[in-house]
Amino acid sequence: MPAVVATWPFGQTAVRAAMPLLRQGRPALDVALAGAQAIEDDPTVHSVGYGGVGNSIGTVSLDACVMDGRTLNCGGVAAVENIRHVAALAKRVMERTPHVLLVGEGARLFAVQQGFALDTLLTPESVAEWYKTRPKANPNPRDQGHDTVTVLVLDQKGSLGGVCTTSGLAHKLPGRVGDSPLIGSGLYVDDTAGAAGATGVGEEIIRINGSFFVVEQMRAGRTPQEACEAAVRRLNSLAVRRGVHPARVAFLALDVKGRVGAAATSRTNFQYAVSKGNKVELVQARELDAEGK
Ligand code: ASP
Repeated sequence: MPAVVATWPFGQTAVRAAMPLLRQGRPALDVALAGAQAIEDDPTVHSVGYGGVGNSIGTVSLDACVMDGRTLNCGGVAAVENIRHVAALAKRVMERTPHVLLVGEGARLFAVQQGFALDTLLTPESVAEWYKTRPKANPNPRDQGHDTVTVLVLDQKGSLGGVCTTSGLAHKLPGRVGDSPLIGSGLYVDDTAGAAGATGVGEEIIRINGSFFVVEQMRAGRTPQEACEAAVRRLNSLAVRRGVHPARVAFLALDVKGRVGAAATSRTNFQYAVSKGNKVELVQARELDAEGK
């Protein structure tokens, strides 16, 4: 049963953009990329691509990665400025270089060499949003707005692919890189186990290698739902150990049977979009608090 899932309510736009390609029998990664790109192009989404809210000095700095579940081929770019389609750029890193991750100026140079246009990513609305959300005192970008789009696809041939793309935490320090471009943290895809993506406070996701954790739970026999819940429990117990409140984090997973799972820490209010035949549904994910309830 082919399927597309994507994080957050704007994921509905991603799923809608991806579905025609899925029906055409295109490979999972191409389908996922089309979905992610629709969000990168959407100026009303202030956490991804064009129209993303800037870092602490107002610069839009993007992170993205892609992974092919058939081969475990993957690519990522981090802290990239002036390039709108960073997910496609991550795919180029995968296809055209011997590397997995390019960052900053090197990634931008590679983009230009590959024919990507240099773009201004700020919009009047995203600048206004930056001023509105600018921390007044004790700046803690971890509390600021975020929301990455991760698109996971099971294609007609039964293979998985995933794409993750974001402008990261708003008001982050220049040079800060979150989980989203890091294979294993923001995204992990392996046809022999499943696909998973993460969203929320990247520092906490990196700490447990979140998406890899979810995929390995599926490899061990858990359903996508059980696997996501296991990752949230891990974050919750870690927060107790560290004496902090669990950060807002959510996981989304899809396996080769087309089963979908999602879970989040409390107060995350995580919703995701999922294809159902020709329709797109928005689903509220289960939240687990520090007691595991
Ligand atoms: N995970 C992203 C980051 O930390 C932000 C988000 O998904 O909300 O950069």
